[in-house]
Amino acid sequence: MSDSVKPLYSEAEIGERIIAMAKDIAKSGKKEMVVVSLLKGSFIFTADLVRALSDCGVRLQVEFLGLSSYGNSTQSSKKVSIVQDMKTEIVGKDVIIMDDILDTGRTLHFASNLLRDRGAKSISVAVMLEKPGKRVVSIDADYIGFTIPDRFVVGYGLDYAGFYRELPFIGVLQQH
Ligand code: 5GP
Ligand code: MG
Repeated sequence: MSDSVKPLYSEAEIGERIIAMAKDIAKSGKKEMVVVSLLKGSFIFTADLVRALSDCGVRLQVEFLGLSSYGNSTQSSKKVSIVQDMKTEIVGKDVIIMDDILDTGRTLHFASNLLRDRGAKSISVAVMLEKPGKRVVSIDADYIGFTIPDRFVVGYGLDYAGFYRELPFIGVLQQH
């Protein structure tokens, strides 16, 4: 079996969206936030969005939270668990969760409940991608890069069996 990736959004299109998203987030008026980036899929999205937010004058602390729900399969499994916890204290802070893709919503639902329980003052959610009509639990993102059809995508941090995260574009995985 061999895989190929059909481009969906180019590096330049992604770059433009990131700048627009950062401007939207900055419009919230919050001058300081704690970013909680969900590993591993969000590392590239986070790296780009935090620098765009810095250009908009927002001061940030950046944390990483490792959550797992997928394993090595393209099928969503039902349980979310913490595989790497964060260290920064978030009590009373404005938190923004950054994730690669909002699909069933289980991951972001889990993350947002966890951070609320830990005392965040406010929680907003920024995702690079969203698949509509797939939600199993009710959760919405405040900031969305692109809304995509229900296809399995890779690149720009998103993987298939650990591969393709390094692609600078987002594409649909084609299995032959
Ligand atoms: P949810 O918990 O919303 O079902 O799924 C969120 C996680 O599932 C994402 O953070 C991502 O890791 C994974 N996921 C969902 N759809 C896709 C996809 O199309 N491609 C890849 N690579 N991962 C996906
Ligand atoms: Mg993920």
